Amino acid sequence: MLLIWHSPVTTLICTPMARTLFVTTALPYANGSFHVGHMMEYIQADIWVRFMRMQGHTVHFVCADDAHGAPIMLRAESEGVTPQELVARIAAERPRYLHGFHIEFDHWHSTDSPENVLLSQSIYRTLREAGLIETKTIEQFFDPVKAMFLPDRYIKGECPNCHAKDQNGDSCEVCGTVYAPTELISPYSALSGATPVLKAAEHYFFRLSDARCVAFLKDWTLGSAPHTGLPHLQPEARNKASEWLGGSDAAAALGDWDISRDAPYFGIPIPDAPGKYFYVWLDAPVGYLAALKSYFDSGRAQERTGTTQTFDEFMADPATEQIHFIGKDIIYFHTLFWPAMLKFSGRKVPDQINVHGFITVSGDKMSKSRGTGISPLRYLELGMNPEWFRYYIAAKLNARIEDIDFNPEDFVARVNSDLIGKYVNIASRAATFLARHFEGAVLPVADSADWQQLGAAAVGAEVRAALEARDFARAVRLAMAFADATNQYFDAQKPWELARSETQRARLHEIASVSVHAFQSLTLWLKPILPELARAAEGFMGCGPLSWTSLPTLTRLNAYEHLMTRVDAKQMNALLEAPAAGSAASAAPRTPAGQPSPATPLAPEISIDDFMKVDLRVARIVAARPVAGSDKLLELTLDVGEGTLRTVFSGIRSAYDPESLVGRLTVVVANLAPRKMKFGLSEGMVLAASGPEAAGLYLLQADSGAAPGMRLT
Ligand SMILES: [Zn+2]
Repeated sequence: MLLIWHSPVTTLICTPMARTLFVTTALPYANGSFHVGHMMEYIQADIWVRFMRMQGHTVHFVCADDAHGAPIMLRAESEGVTPQELVARIAAERPRYLHGFHIEFDHWHSTDSPENVLLSQSIYRTLREAGLIETKTIEQFFDPVKAMFLPDRYIKGECPNCHAKDQNGDSCEVCGTVYAPTELISPYSALSGATPVLKAAEHYFFRLSDARCVAFLKDWTLGSAPHTGLPHLQPEARNKASEWLGGSDAAAALGDWDISRDAPYFGIPIPDAPGKYFYVWLDAPVGYLAALKSYFDSGRAQERTGTTQTFDEFMADPATEQIHFIGKDIIYFHTLFWPAMLKFSGRKVPDQINVHGFITVSGDKMSKSRGTGISPLRYLELGMNPEWFRYYIAAKLNARIEDIDFNPEDFVARVNSDLIGKYVNIASRAATFLARHFEGAVLPVADSADWQQLGAAAVGAEVRAALEARDFARAVRLAMAFADATNQYFDAQKPWELARSETQRARLHEIASVSVHAFQSLTLWLKPILPELARAAEGFMGCGPLSWTSLPTLTRLNAYEHLMTRVDAKQMNALLEAPAAGSAASAAPRTPAGQPSPATPLAPEISIDDFMKVDLRVARIVAARPVAGSDKLLELTLDVGEGTLRTVFSGIRSAYDPESLVGRLTVVVANLAPRKMKFGLSEGMVLAASGPEAAGLYLLQADSGAAPGMRLT
């Protein structure tokens, strides 16, 4: 019935193909600052949302703080504040990051909100009426001092397998064994140190193993969105889900989901169950809906779209598409629990779950809990351009679930070479000639053979498809190839020579005009990634906001001002020196690294150039034998990937049995001048660590996967 009055409004406002999208990113846990992994996800979603809006689609883009659960409750307690105060403090710093990186959510909310209480309880009631909630009595560890049940992460003890001390309640960090907290030897509470006791309590379960849920999930995880025909899940996520749901007994494999926690707990009370709260993972995804509801209730959603739909009407509208961006660590929750909760509470189920991988920094795994890596806030405080970062992330992201690496040298090289050297360069070169010789006037180029040969329309169609499919890396590659072609075209015409001849003026004008129109196309394609740069470029071109439907013909340029500066390697160094994410404000320079022990003072400082003179290579030890007449040396035969083998004499005989070394990967100084020794020629040096006397000798080893000949840098 809603459609009867809604449809005409939609048709009036939107083009026939226009879509209506509800887009979210995963809700960040509100016990800490954003790290670079959060920014990557928000930038990914923000680029896509901006692109979809440029296509004329309506997008409501919301997120919220995930505010509940034991970790927030306990951290607040340890800081002497209420959980609400802790969450409010974290929420207050969010805008600095979001605005700083041009991430434009329509609304930012919290799961600790009346909307979320209402929606979570209402979803629960419907699930209960559908017979999908049941209670079971289970035994759990209880801290008699804190008078609370202990989540696994707050129970420690001795590993039942390898007997390592102080291991976590769910798995051993030393031997990797996974176990139940009750299997720990001498368990203790990480909160009070007390020995926990087993105590029975009634828990509430969502019956995911119910035949209806299993049937629905088997269908949904393989299904496609009705509006687009695109699969709900990427192939990798679909395979994961099939693993979880596969086998002859999916119901047993799925199990039921414990959705309750006992007081004291910071969360939403379960209706008709005094002292019981929803487990934070139940109400967290409901926070997507709560954020949208709060946005609609504020009237701003309707203001933007010119409709009068309420939240309930919007979510009941079959035209609405629901799309979530998440990381690969929460696939389970978003492909099983969340769709099932929505389905059996009579709500719209997600159309698409877009999963991304993790981000590493120089190969180091970025971990949400450890918060290592570069600090986004420090990045901004150093005055680094947020669009450099957006561009770099975009250049690395595709639609698959792959980890990406933030590599500082690669970052500097890409930004400087792509954005400055290729893209911005076109505007600056064309503008110089147009301003100097033609007072900024630009010729129309539609009929120019040069323009047609560049093929902007065809490339643009490919860029568009790549952006829509979230293959941003491909979009960037296409754009940069086009920028290369434009620069080559410009160079080949030698406009600086044409400028010296009166008779070549028309030709010069055409070349510069074609180039600046190429810059306009590039600006359009890169606009979702570089919104501020695009705004400045639009001002320079005097053409108003660019849209995909029609690119205006340029007529007169405004004065050219620098659109973007190069990354300064000094800024990058300062960024890398910063302490780990969070307390970025007072980034005191680190004390000189190293100082391993007073007995071995550091060698004098060298520059990177000095270091690069040393050519370190991975080598495989093909053979190793004792040297007759020496009790110190081993003769090693090394494969350094050169097609021939080298002989190296190494003084490691005291520490290694020659046979144990064969096949091992080590590191060799490959460009060391050969040294004539009593026993033969030594063609390099293998690296080993040694301490003060008696501390032993330790040959360096490369991780498996390294190949002979690889250079160490
Ligand atoms: Zn162990």
